[in-house]
Amino acid sequence: MSALPRIGAKLAAGERLDGDDGLALFMEPDLLALGQLANAERERRHGDRTFFNVNMRYEATNVCEASCSFCAFAKLEEGAPGAHTATHEEAWKALAEHPDPKLTELHMVNGLHPGLPFEWYEQLLSGWKRVRPEVHLKCFTGVEIHYFAEKFGMSHTEVLTRLRAAGLDSMPGGGAEILHPDVRGRISNDKADGEQYLAAHGAAHRLGMKTNCTMLYGHIETFEHRVDHLLRLRAQQEETGGFQCFIPLAFHNENNSLQKLPEPTAVDDLRTIAVSRLMLDNIDHIKAYWVSMGIDTAQMALRFGADDLDGTIVGESIYHSAGSTVPMGLTRDALVRLIREAGRIPVERDTEYGIVEELPRAARPEAAMKVRERNAEKKSLNVLSTGAAS
Ligand code: SF4
Repeated sequence: MSALPRIGAKLAAGERLDGDDGLALFMEPDLLALGQLANAERERRHGDRTFFNVNMRYEATNVCEASCSFCAFAKLEEGAPGAHTATHEEAWKALAEHPDPKLTELHMVNGLHPGLPFEWYEQLLSGWKRVRPEVHLKCFTGVEIHYFAEKFGMSHTEVLTRLRAAGLDSMPGGGAEILHPDVRGRISNDKADGEQYLAAHGAAHRLGMKTNCTMLYGHIETFEHRVDHLLRLRAQQEETGGFQCFIPLAFHNENNSLQKLPEPTAVDDLRTIAVSRLMLDNIDHIKAYWVSMGIDTAQMALRFGADDLDGTIVGESIYHSAGSTVPMGLTRDALVRLIREAGRIPVERDTEYGIVEELPRAARPEAAMKVRERNAEKKSLNVLSTGAAS
């Protein structure tokens, strides 16, 4: 028998869902009914408003001494085929010459490079602030912050205080993978463990910084592990309160050691978005990251609990190394169109969900779009497509 009526009643009474509820939601066979429950919660919080931003991705180095089995991005050492570490000048130029004058965010994650001194990262940030001081720097995962702390003999708070002084504004959510030690020990056993990841975020929150959080799903974990993961994030949020957004990240299986595993399906993507919305009652935003789940599924997820599509991006290479075939970037107009087509109101935000511009909803039902217009839109979706996306 479906648990949805019982869980719906709990939600209506304002009661918090527990681990058993979370598991029942993951096992619920009626995807549309589950989506409806999550959508009601999404609309209660945000109505039709759907957030996106104008951002860029940057990976300063893919050299990494860790060996996560799902990772197709990292190269073990400098000089290995495909290894790359940008110079400061290259990194600063990438931001200075970014063509979009409306750019509000630079999102950077890196490998755990064994040879770069801490000052290298401070100089990187301060140079970016010099060339475009208005751009928000959302950089370094909790795993990277923990790596710096261990390597350079500082606490998380000391690392973050120095990076903030150099220009760091907030942290992305990457590196959470699956927090449960039974899974984490098998897929990422030589980097920050789950508690250390959460401690790095907690330290950031206590300094007044906002961060995001993630979950890499669809590989060797079970639904129980996913529920455990969500409960750990929820508990951290109760304690330190700085998570703005949760981003479920779908596992991709190319060019890594988990190639034999199938990737999660669209049904799993939508289910995970919906359960996350219902379980993470103390995190405001759930993101359908279009690079991870694909544009079509991300658009549908806006009716399954997600209220954010991420941004224009341009330059992502972590998912593209693992076989993602989505474009390397979307135009702002394309994001607006995707949101409108889903019957929602596009809201351009900055990194901390300040409103840059709220746009009107579509003037007419998008289902009535002419074939000619749809084809024109498809072209605009791919206008920034290069490399692996082609
Ligand atoms: S996921 Fe991150 S820490 Fe793990 S190998 Fe890849 S770059 Fe390194």
